[in-house]
Amino acid sequence: MLPPIKLISLVVLTFTTFTPIQALSAGLTAPREISHVTGDVYRMREGGHYSLVTVTQNGVVLVDPLNTRAATWLKGNLSQITDKPITHIIFSHSHLDHASGGRVFGKTDTFAHQKAPQTIDGVKPSVRFSQDHTFKVGNKQFELSYLGSGGHGEDSISVIVRPENVGFVVDIAAPKRIPSLSEPGQSAIAQLNQMKHFTSKDFKYFAAGHGRVGTRADAIEWVKYLEGSIEAVRAGLKQGKSDRSIISDIMQSDTDYKTWQRYGPWRASSLRVILNELRNN
Ligand SMILES: [Zn+2]
Repeated sequence: MLPPIKLISLVVLTFTTFTPIQALSAGLTAPREISHVTGDVYRMREGGHYSLVTVTQNGVVLVDPLNTRAATWLKGNLSQITDKPITHIIFSHSHLDHASGGRVFGKTDTFAHQKAPQTIDGVKPSVRFSQDHTFKVGNKQFELSYLGSGGHGEDSISVIVRPENVGFVVDIAAPKRIPSLSEPGQSAIAQLNQMKHFTSKDFKYFAAGHGRVGTRADAIEWVKYLEGSIEAVRAGLKQGKSDRSIISDIMQSDTDYKTWQRYGPWRASSLRVILNELRNN
């Protein structure tokens, strides 16, 4: 997510429904904790940002170090869940509010999409791939898949961890959370296609870089949310309605979405992004 959004999400904290292993750690701006997802899979939280942490027999696989402060904290608190070090880092995408700080862990195997920069905050990915890349560490399998261009991030991938069947994406979608669609130049339709690619895969739990942990049903519900939003805007434009009435008519018919995270700040502004995209295409 982009820096202005990062600031917002650091202030407006979201809370996981899973039991924190340690009470919130004192920090100047951002509480940190490790929480259990399922099996050997955990999330590390700093403020409103989350990493995915998987413990294997041969080492710990981290998706997204977040930043140097968070990575340093994780390194110092990993003993809450394992005596193994972090041996592998996967970058969900290269936006630095999720991808920086990897140097803290020293020499690791690192994985990124081929469109990622040569180095990400000083870390040179050792494995790059174009579409899909699967590897094993100990008894765990990690399935990496490119989500396509034009949506959130040009190098965004999904990660599925087996046998726990946890799917992880960052900044594209999260369970019961309105997407901001605020990255300059991004397309809502392309972001929808990124998420359709993710939901074409088999997984049970839906974890994300922001918000609560859900299930595959939440990922499918999110696809319906964005698909429905795009169709409703398209219908409003066809009827010749004004922007203001398109947005207010859609929001008046919202029922369940009103309880989603970020509805207040992002529902209207994200509909405006869709409006501009459809009008220009
Ligand atoms: Zn991002």
